[in-house]
Amino acid sequence: MVVIGEHRHTQVTVDLQAIKSNIRKEMAQKDELTELWAVVKANGYGHGIIQVAQAAKAAGATGFCVAILDEGLALRAAGITEPVLVLGITEPEYASLAAEKSISLAVGSKAWLDTATQILATSQVTQPLHVHLALDTGMGRIGFQTPAELSVAAQTLRQAQSPFDFEGIFTHFATADQADDTYFIHQLNNWKSMIAAVDDLPRYVHVSNSATSLWHQACNGNMVRFGVALYGLNPSGRDLSSPYQLQPALSLTAQLTFVKHLARDKSISYGATYTAAQDEWIGTVPIGYADGYERRLQGFHVLIDGGFCEIVGRVCMDQLMVRLPHEVAVGTKVTLVGTDGANTISLQDVADYCGTIHYEIACGLAPRVPRVYTD
Ligand SMILES: *Cc1c(COP(=O)(O)O)cnc(C)c1O
Repeated sequence: MVVIGEHRHTQVTVDLQAIKSNIRKEMAQKDELTELWAVVKANGYGHGIIQVAQAAKAAGATGFCVAILDEGLALRAAGITEPVLVLGITEPEYASLAAEKSISLAVGSKAWLDTATQILATSQVTQPLHVHLALDTGMGRIGFQTPAELSVAAQTLRQAQSPFDFEGIFTHFATADQADDTYFIHQLNNWKSMIAAVDDLPRYVHVSNSATSLWHQACNGNMVRFGVALYGLNPSGRDLSSPYQLQPALSLTAQLTFVKHLARDKSISYGATYTAAQDEWIGTVPIGYADGYERRLQGFHVLIDGGFCEIVGRVCMDQLMVRLPHEVAVGTKVTLVGTDGANTISLQDVADYCGTIHYEIACGLAPRVPRVYTD
């Protein structure tokens, strides 16, 4: 098989020790009855779903959350046998596939249960389908909105002939990463009044993403859906400080492919938006927006020999140019995210420059960039 990107010195390096350390620190904050399920959707936030899942498991994660059914199937195909929950809505037509693979599905309406009941009745699958009822307490994305609807769904799941295993109930907070907790408390109150409508709570009751777990310890629940923080990224960006040190796992590096002396008044890249004010040295880096290194990063910087070098001219699809302090050898390492010497460029720094959040930068790194693992 041809691995596209294998013969180019541009790579993501993922430090699995950092992932394990973040998980262990999180688990140390929790009581022994609270499970940690590692959220590995979107290819493990760009870090690699299978490798992250295995590292998380080694560090004590007892289950996994994904966004779509195929991500769960990929975990099963890789030999992961722990519980796997799909957080988004899966089309009921795949209910029997999920049941067969013992993948738990989030359910947000009675209509979904009715359709899935019919589908499961006509399939050969004998295992029950594990479901987690999603409660919309204010996120406004998926889930039951009233105690009455919820109570009907819970009763349906508990009927004698039900093809379902009522495994969990959960909600998701919209503002857990903010200092102002007004809306958080509003959601928490909704949550409390909604679950009061369910007589007998299922095995997993869960409300916490990373931010909720880090900053709202008092929340009830017995499982944490630990996502971005396991990758060492602060869910709030720079707003709130983490109760323990998070260790970023990802770095992004390349090597200079071309180095030249540029005479004063000559220009660089599409649109000729950059013109040298004096004679300078320019290096070319084999990465561009097709790799997930955004075009908006013109004017930002990379690290070469431990020093910051400005990205000059437009970022192209596959290459970009940087201004060097002096002549540097072709093949010199370029750090786009990570530490070189005394300096660091974090995913947060990149996100700030792009006007977005680190989540988006991490998951945007293209499959063309190989992921290399250290442990
Ligand atoms: C993505 C997601 C999480 C994980 O969120 P982080 O902020 O990465 O911790 C948890 N729960 C749900 C429902 C999600 O969609």
